[in-house]
Amino acid sequence: MSRLAERFQQRPLAPEKLSPFPVEELVVAGDLGPCGGVRMAISVTKDILDYVGGREKVYANNQPVHNRLVTETFAGQGLVIEPDINNIPANSIWILSAHGTDPHIVEKAKEKGIHVVNVECPLVTKVRREAQRAEERGEHLIYRGAQNHPEPKAILGGLNDINHATFITDTTDPNSLTLPKNVPIRVLNQTTLSIRGVAEEIDSLRSLNPDIDLPNPMGICYATDNRQDSLYGMFSDLENPIDFLIVVGSQNSHNSQELRNIGVNFLGPQNAVLIDTPLDIDAGWFKGAKRVGLTSGASVLDEYTVNVLEWFRAKGTKLTFLVGRENDQRYDGLTFAAPKTEIEKVKRYIDLKYAV
Ligand code: SF4
Repeated sequence: MSRLAERFQQRPLAPEKLSPFPVEELVVAGDLGPCGGVRMAISVTKDILDYVGGREKVYANNQPVHNRLVTETFAGQGLVIEPDINNIPANSIWILSAHGTDPHIVEKAKEKGIHVVNVECPLVTKVRREAQRAEERGEHLIYRGAQNHPEPKAILGGLNDINHATFITDTTDPNSLTLPKNVPIRVLNQTTLSIRGVAEEIDSLRSLNPDIDLPNPMGICYATDNRQDSLYGMFSDLENPIDFLIVVGSQNSHNSQELRNIGVNFLGPQNAVLIDTPLDIDAGWFKGAKRVGLTSGASVLDEYTVNVLEWFRAKGTKLTFLVGRENDQRYDGLTFAAPKTEIEKVKRYIDLKYAV
């Protein structure tokens, strides 16, 4: 049973039964919601903000995780988003986002005397190390990512020479690439890209260069893979088709956008939406929709998803919870190790500064 199914099993069923409401069933994806990296980033940021207790500003170079509600909550506790290191005074606390930061900037911040707390997800770090190893071996890197997302900057910023890499997006035509001759090519991807998009990329790059190094999974993280796979599973039930898809997640969450894209491919753009809260729902969307699918991005806390489930339940919609790969006990409460030394240093600094 999924963790959300357990929460709903314990609640008495007392729907308001507002009618007419066409949605008879809400099918909830088996794998959804917060991943290990997001849990770690949120818990560390909360810990630091609680410890500082509003006595001074705490800076972040980006949203620690790409979720509007999380960002608003942290802003209320004194978190200020400031990406430019030049605007951060020495001795300030600067939290660096889960999706990575250019290591040269991290070094510069430390030299400036900024207390850095780097909550970069270890799966992003792993891709950077693979990119650096490829450079050390004299390989040329093709890195595929989303334009203006912090992760490509964090990965490519880790290279000694950017000319050892070619950055591509999902709109790049592989045939337009000018790649170095007689140099081994290595391909890596942003962790949150589309798994099917990567499969297509593999085919086109192979036709370009049969010797290209394409190890599996080429950077896509477990959370992206599981959430997309779970959604494809939901759409593959042809006997019980889904009429409309709701993705709980923020507009700037690439992971959530990719989930919506899957819905758009099956249902068209009018029938797949991205929402943060039930307040974003327009009941008019569901005209003629009996079965609605629901999932949530890796940067969405369960409580935000539960609010949407409650909205449907209050209208008398039956909730069906699918089972996913992460229902396996190995994933229970999965989180990654926090940057303990950096957190302790920040706490010591606060203790000394505000000692009476
Ligand atoms: S989506 Fe993947 S890479 Fe990003 S924080 Fe979560 S586990 Fe890490």
